Amino acid sequence: MASYSRAPGQYRLMPTRLQERMPDGTTRCNLCLWRCRIKHGQRGFCQAHVNRGGTLYNLSYGILSSIGVGPIEDKPVKHFRPGTQVMSVGSYGCSFRCGGCHNLEISWGVTALDDLARGESTAAYVTPVRLVEAARRHGVDGIAFTYSEPAVWLEYVMDVSEAAHEAGLYTVFVSNSFVTDEALALLEGRVDVLCSDIKSLSDAFYRRICGKAHVDEVLASIEHAHRLGIHVETRTNVIPTLNDDPEMLQGIARWIHDHLGAESPWHITRFFPAYKLDHLPATPADVLWRAHDLARAVGLRNVYVYDDKGCDCAQENRPIADWLSEDPAVLHRIKKCSASCCGEDGVLLKKYERLD
Ligand code: SF4
Ligand code: SF4
Repeated sequence: MASYSRAPGQYRLMPTRLQERMPDGTTRCNLCLWRCRIKHGQRGFCQAHVNRGGTLYNLSYGILSSIGVGPIEDKPVKHFRPGTQVMSVGSYGCSFRCGGCHNLEISWGVTALDDLARGESTAAYVTPVRLVEAARRHGVDGIAFTYSEPAVWLEYVMDVSEAAHEAGLYTVFVSNSFVTDEALALLEGRVDVLCSDIKSLSDAFYRRICGKAHVDEVLASIEHAHRLGIHVETRTNVIPTLNDDPEMLQGIARWIHDHLGAESPWHITRFFPAYKLDHLPATPADVLWRAHDLARAVGLRNVYVYDDKGCDCAQENRPIADWLSEDPAVLHRIKKCSASCCGEDGVLLKKYERLD
């Protein structure tokens, strides 16, 4: 029986798929490369996983922050089912803290995840089956997990992907690739496309946005997905003064060429000022085109420049209830865990970034 058929009809905390009890009494989450070791009452770096009595649970299973429909090319993905439409969904929580993130409220989602942890959230809860039904009703060909890092929501991604495949839809995972090999193994056969950032080739750049990230780990994760047979396309958002060095950009292109192949698509997008990086200018178009030419010079054949587009941001257009044909009052009623296994403790709100 497919696992999504066991997905609860009502909101509840769902056991984290990759967890491991540690000798020091913590439980380790192995979804992303933070590998947070979490004590009872604490949440991991992404804030979306909580330890209750030694077991980790995902707070955000089925919780949607946004939905949109558009061409797959907008993810950006150009070499998989071109010309088709995809329904994009996202939740709350991310494994990175990018200074230029355009999606803060939903990507970091701190307020939304605190509300969930307190049992006070009115965010939309949508089962995998209802989401796939909505996708079919809107005539799309695929479902994309995007807007924040989907690895921190892997339980839902897996169940939706199974339901989507059963309905003949493809799936796209838009990621920072700070993901464990174990998580990738769970995505094999469920996710058709990985659209991954390569933000830089500098460890210092990655450490600014995620204290634990190393370039080599991110690149290894992308290559691993490629070897698993997942269709991979990569993207670099070029930020003035931070990752616009021509040598480094050519290095990214060379890495793609050597590890993913000369045909592997590379998308070069424009930075637009936001959040902590709002003092920087938008990237000049000639910098993007120079990166394009450098990539072509090392033999990369499919290089795309977007001088009008940055990240795959959620566009606030229609309310989630519209997409689902739901009564908004029902969809947004207060979410409390519908299971009783943890007693009346509530989800303790103590937060932390990481235990050493
Ligand atoms: S950041 Fe979240 S998904 Fe990543 S290891 Fe920590 S708790 Fe798990
Ligand atoms: S830019 Fe992407 S990876 Fe970075 S914090 Fe925002 S959602 Fe997360």
